[in-house]
Amino acid sequence: MPARILSGKTIAEAIKSEVAAEVADLQEVHNVRPCLAVVRVGEDPASAVYVGSKVRTTEELGMASEHRHFQADAAPHEILAAVDELNARSDVDGILVQLPLPKHIDERVILERIDPMKDVDGFHPINSGRLMQGRESLVPCTPAGVIEILKRSDIEIAGKHAVVVGRSNIVGKPMAMLLLQENATVTICHSRTRDLPAVTRQADILVAAIGRAGFIRGEHIREGAAVIDVGINSVADATVARTLFSDDEIEKRLAAIEKRGSTLVGDVNPREAIEKAGSLTPVPGGVGLLTVAMLMKNTVAAAKLRRGIQI
Ligand code: NDP
Repeated sequence: MPARILSGKTIAEAIKSEVAAEVADLQEVHNVRPCLAVVRVGEDPASAVYVGSKVRTTEELGMASEHRHFQADAAPHEILAAVDELNARSDVDGILVQLPLPKHIDERVILERIDPMKDVDGFHPINSGRLMQGRESLVPCTPAGVIEILKRSDIEIAGKHAVVVGRSNIVGKPMAMLLLQENATVTICHSRTRDLPAVTRQADILVAAIGRAGFIRGEHIREGAAVIDVGINSVADATVARTLFSDDEIEKRLAAIEKRGSTLVGDVNPREAIEKAGSLTPVPGGVGLLTVAMLMKNTVAAAKLRRGIQI
């Protein structure tokens, strides 16, 4: 039987309407309107799209937003000064610096300057440390979104073997910590893991956060596993696309390559995964949609945490 497709759309919409209700409540009861400030540097087209969508969604849900844009050659001290100013402002609840930053700016220095209480991306070492210790914190949006997908799709986590492929600070490591907090038995794999398919085949829940198009194949997947595809990659070659997409999907994808020059694929080969997995998140339309929804949730959480309001 082909895998159940876990659509991120319905889940992201549900989270966004819960956030909108919380925003209305905060305004009515506490006279607080959460505000998200987004800092963007340079002209990376993908970053411009992501920031646009974050700012738009913030406003759609009734929150305030602010967008600071710097030229690609901005000096690090200019970005730090903006972060300092946003840290100091009592009306700003969340600060997000869109990554990647231009090469001459050290991302770590900028991210560490953000007040941890306003760190809605959850990348500050204080928040990573709190997550590690299982304490209340602002949690990175993408892995937090994966947990929402699993829970809201009634996929049991406790006691299950979860295998995470990827160990970045943004996805892999916090993902593993969150799964551990949910009482999964967790294995983390990376580029030095020996016999990866033998390890991933043990997974009841397999999370792929690698950054390589269609890397996870049928041989990596245990029959019936829940497969969560975090990857976002572009494929421009029609021959490669034919190895990735099922007969039902391929015409649409080839048309996209024809029209836009490429089509999106995750880190999982959907053509093979659909035959082995019990459930599978699509790309696009899966985890990616949850990332913005969880950012909205974090902005409200930050507004409440800073004011001592129960979240
Ligand atoms: P990174 O490049 O920071 O990390 C990739 C990880 O994959 C590394 O830990 C690396 O191992 C591991 N890896 C690379 N090659 C292999 C291999 N052959 N076998 C096993 N492991 C391997 O990427 P990110 O974590 O930032 O992102 C991962 C993916 O998720 C990307 O496709 C990205 O676009 C996507 N993404 C999607 C988001 C969303 O909203 N849906 C948000 C953020 C990211 P090692 O550490 O040994 O090098």
